[in-house]
Amino acid sequence: ASTTASPLASLANNPAEAIPLNFNENPLGLAPKAQQAVLDALPNAWRYPDAARSDLMGAIAANLSVAESQLIYGNGSSEVLKMALDALVQTNTQLVMPDPSYGVIIDYAMARGVPVVKVKLDGNWQTDLGAMKAKVAAHNGPSIVYLCNPNNPTGVLLPQSQLNQWLDQASSQLSFIVDEAYVEYVAQAGFVSAVARVKQGQKHIVVCRTFSKIYALAGLRVGYGVAHAELIKQMQAQASIDNANLIGCVAAKASLESQQWLELSLKSNSQAKELVYKQLEALGLDYLPSETNFIFHKVNGDSELYMQRMGKAGILVGRPFNHGEGWNRLSIGTPAQMQYFCKTLAKFRELGWV
Ligand code: PLP
Repeated sequence: ASTTASPLASLANNPAEAIPLNFNENPLGLAPKAQQAVLDALPNAWRYPDAARSDLMGAIAANLSVAESQLIYGNGSSEVLKMALDALVQTNTQLVMPDPSYGVIIDYAMARGVPVVKVKLDGNWQTDLGAMKAKVAAHNGPSIVYLCNPNNPTGVLLPQSQLNQWLDQASSQLSFIVDEAYVEYVAQAGFVSAVARVKQGQKHIVVCRTFSKIYALAGLRVGYGVAHAELIKQMQAQASIDNANLIGCVAAKASLESQQWLELSLKSNSQAKELVYKQLEALGLDYLPSETNFIFHKVNGDSELYMQRMGKAGILVGRPFNHGEGWNRLSIGTPAQMQYFCKTLAKFRELGWV
């Protein structure tokens, strides 16, 4: 049988293993101190995780200057999202959320029979708080509003003053779940975390955080929520017992103590992002400047086909998103990985694929 050479054959250094640029992980991996903590804790992993969890929660409380009663541990922040929804749902509640955004909460809502109202991002890819407010006003019953700040897949921050004003209106009829999975990457001056609202005593806001992103512990499943102590109690009632794992807890605590490594991760991420921005600009492909470790950018064509072609070139990129036809979400790898990505993208242009 005759074989046709792949149009990608001329790409030098085709990687032996696919480069994972699809799940917004930290490509530098665990901090050395976290790896050591895992090894040191392994002989004790036959014990239940209470002490390790308590140490971690104490460290998080100190870092955020909140009481431990304002914190809850989650098996990843995905579980915190679930506990928040479960605790906040009342009769006739609707969930209002931006679209596209991080969608796991949709499944949780559907499992409980909670109707989900998706509000399309505005023409500038911004979370449309005005349109979301209108959906809340039109509903005869309580609303839970899910917000992702910065948003996934766009990497864009929500408008701060508008957001603060709305969060200040939280009540038993209007509660907020604010997902800050990427908050550690935010560089924009003037950014204020929703944790500030919780500290002011707001009773109807849950902030979800994770160790899966900059802390590189996605496989160890450590997340946490910040909320008023009364709401935390209601969330705790929805948690499964012993949802923590000892190894994850010690790794997370050691990661919090790895300032130098966190700075290195941020620096690597910014350098790698700059490489991609330059290449996208050179190719005239629009992108959204990102406050995270991923970039949402134009690919000039079918998003699904683009993803498949990148896969054949050894790069796993993000999946298609609602309303994002012709765009792709690219997670940021190491600068070397992003150089390979840039070369591949240039090749795609030569082939007329982007
Ligand atoms: N929230 C957002 C916005 C995410 O992008 C992710 C993961 O991709 C999560 C939450 C879930 O993270 P985890 O459950 O690993 O903490």
